[in-house]
Amino acid sequence: MSILNADLHCHSTVSDGTLEPEALAARAKANGVELWSLTDHDEVGGQRRALAAARSLDLPYLTGTEISVTFVDVTVHIVGLGFDPDHPALVEGLRRTRGGRGERAQEMAEQLAKAGIAGAYEGALKYVGNPELISRTHFARFLVETGVCKDTNEVFRRFLTEGKPGYVPHRWATLGDAVRWIREAGGVAVIAHPARYAHSPTQEYALFTEFKAHGGQAVEVVTGSHSAAEYVKYADMALEFGLAASRGSDFHSPGESHCDLGALPHLEGRLTPVWELLADRIQ
Ligand code: AMP
Ligand code: MN
Ligand code: MN
Ligand code: MN
Repeated sequence: MSILNADLHCHSTVSDGTLEPEALAARAKANGVELWSLTDHDEVGGQRRALAAARSLDLPYLTGTEISVTFVDVTVHIVGLGFDPDHPALVEGLRRTRGGRGERAQEMAEQLAKAGIAGAYEGALKYVGNPELISRTHFARFLVETGVCKDTNEVFRRFLTEGKPGYVPHRWATLGDAVRWIREAGGVAVIAHPARYAHSPTQEYALFTEFKAHGGQAVEVVTGSHSAAEYVKYADMALEFGLAASRGSDFHSPGESHCDLGALPHLEGRLTPVWELLADRIQ
């Protein structure tokens, strides 16, 4: 089961991806994905469409989302898989997590204006598919379009990150709430791309320990932003903490993402794949 081509992390126009859920489903199928999940940031508005598209392609599907969390002042992402997308606690929690993105975006634009970049709010809005979900990615696309930066990587090096123009600190959901919403809705919580956080080793250990204590059950081991060495490091940590392992490209856009849907190494055989915990939730 560990060699299933599962891709359990990607984004559509319902958050900060550039493809519609239907186009993502078709792309996943064409790339040989055998189990798929659409995991839009703080949003389940695309789930019905993703499931319908997956069904029409005979592509097994798990519901998904990626919740923004603040843990010791660092933003951490928690993926939820296999939950009931209509569960009231989850729906309300996600709605509250999305709240505040609009004001944050206005402040980001004010900072960028002071740095000499005018019209960033309106510019970013052009790329937004879901008005509640304006994100740094949409600003990044605007900065590339206007020639300020050559690609989104350069944007995040020069802007929108701590200490750089356009960075507005934001408090997201708590770790405990995010895990609880996913669990109450019948799903499994997964630490997304753990190598991407600015935590010290002690803080990382605390994240895994608290995540587990809250009822979290899995960690992304093979993901688009991990190196080969990081696959091994987080496979070891999954085993140390008794967590299942997940696999997902974190695909956002054909022009931007270096890792395409389904184009990832398989999970090592020593790991428990997260889909083994979710066998009865696959649709
Ligand atoms: P937000 O939720 O508004 O803070 O935006 C976070 C999103 O920005 C992530 O989900 C990524 O899509 C994107 N992002 C963050 N850091 C980078 C980076 N270094 N390179 C490319 N995209 C990034
Ligand atoms: Mn994103
Ligand atoms: Mn993420
Ligand atoms: Mn993601």
